[in-house]
This record gives sequence, structure tokens and C-alpha cells, in this order.
Amino acid sequence: MTVIQRMIPVSKHKIKCPYTMTPTRVVIHNTANDASAENEVAYMSHNNAETSFHYAVDDKEIIQAIPENRNAWHAGDGNGTGNREGIAIEICYSKSGGAWFEAAEQNAAELTASIMARYGWELDRVTKHQDYSGKYCPHRTLDLGWDRFKKMVDMALHKVISDTTQDISLARGNSYHVKLTSFAKPSFTVGNGSVMKTFTGRQSGNEYIFGITATGKCGESTGVYTNDEKLFSVTII
Ligand SMILES: [Zn+2]
Repeated sequence: MTVIQRMIPVSKHKIKCPYTMTPTRVVIHNTANDASAENEVAYMSHNNAETSFHYAVDDKEIIQAIPENRNAWHAGDGNGTGNREGIAIEICYSKSGGAWFEAAEQNAAELTASIMARYGWELDRVTKHQDYSGKYCPHRTLDLGWDRFKKMVDMALHKVISDTTQDISLARGNSYHVKLTSFAKPSFTVGNGSVMKTFTGRQSGNEYIFGITATGKCGESTGVYTNDEKLFSVTII
């Protein structure tokens, strides 16, 4: 997931993001428009309205326009927590909906998960425009189901990509490293702890290194799991 930065000029800060901010939440919006993220950001950046957002997301791109340590004007609550503590994410193509909107929503769920992981936030930090001003926004996300969107965020947060997916064999006493990539720290376990012992290696950003050591007898095997899902089997040779 790549975030493209098209930051608004500093000369516009006094209109679009006048205050420094320590963010405490994400505020989800729908654009109620059919423009791309690039066009939404260009429009917002070039006009002089006190309306702004941090990110616009479409089916292909995530574009950041305002740094997360400055406020934006989007939640309709004046100097309330939405405007002064919220990271605003606009999901594009909500007017007509369809496949482009659905892909944009998925990208927004992944962006939200990545922000949560950076700040160590739980799902209660995922809020919507409606929470602050009563406006029916994010309109299409609400039509399709707010709890459904939060589930998408939770899935994105805990999705794990493993560098090992094929069954392996390991000589008795030897160790093997597995690299897992995930926004949130994944669990790492084996089915039978007398066959394999697990250990935890270094973490770098979203990459977590775990390991297994073959401590059982030749011919024994067990499954290796992350977040209760099986990754592969390992057999001692
Ligand atoms: Zn909104």
C-alpha cells in the first residue's frame, strides 16, 4: 500500500489546517461525488474554502494532502474532537457506488488499519463524520453497513502474509525462520509443542520474524499457525 503525498502549500495552512494536532482518531467520510482521489485533492488544495481532509482514497490510489500533525476542517463540529483530533479520510466515488467505490472502500480500510497500527489504536478509534455533526456521512458506507466497514478494517489490521506457505521438512535440532508481514503483531504457534519449539526474532516495521526449532523425533510433524490460521506443516527428518 503506497501513500502518495500531494501536500497543500504551506501558504494555505492558515485556511486548511491552522492548528497543530495530536490525532486521537480516524474520521471516515464519503465524497458524495464521482471524482478520483487526485481530483478531490487538487480541488480541495486550490480553493480557499475552510474545508479540508488528510487523505483521499480511490480504487487505485491513496493521496495525502495534510500532515497528520495538523488539523483539518471536515467533521462539522467546529473546534470539537472531530475537526481538532481526527485524521480525515475521504472515500471517493460514493455518489454512484459500484466496483470503483468498493475498491476505494477496501483501500480506505487498509489505510485506516495502517494508521491504527502506527498509533497503537483499537477499533473504537475508527469514527464517522455522522458521530460529530449528525450529517449522514459516509453516506454509501452507512447504506452498506458501518459494522461491515469496521470488520473490513479489523480484517486488514490482522491480515498476515507469510514468506512460507508450502510444507517443509527440518532436520532434528535445526531451526527455520518465518517472516510474517502484518499491520498488527501476529501470533505464532505450533500445533504440537513437543515436536517444534517457537521463538520470536526481530521486528522491523510491519515485518515480524519468528522461528521454529525441531525438538521432537524423526518422522514427527506438526502444523504452524498464525492468528489461528494454518500456514504450513513441518516434518522432522
Ligand atoms: Zn463527511
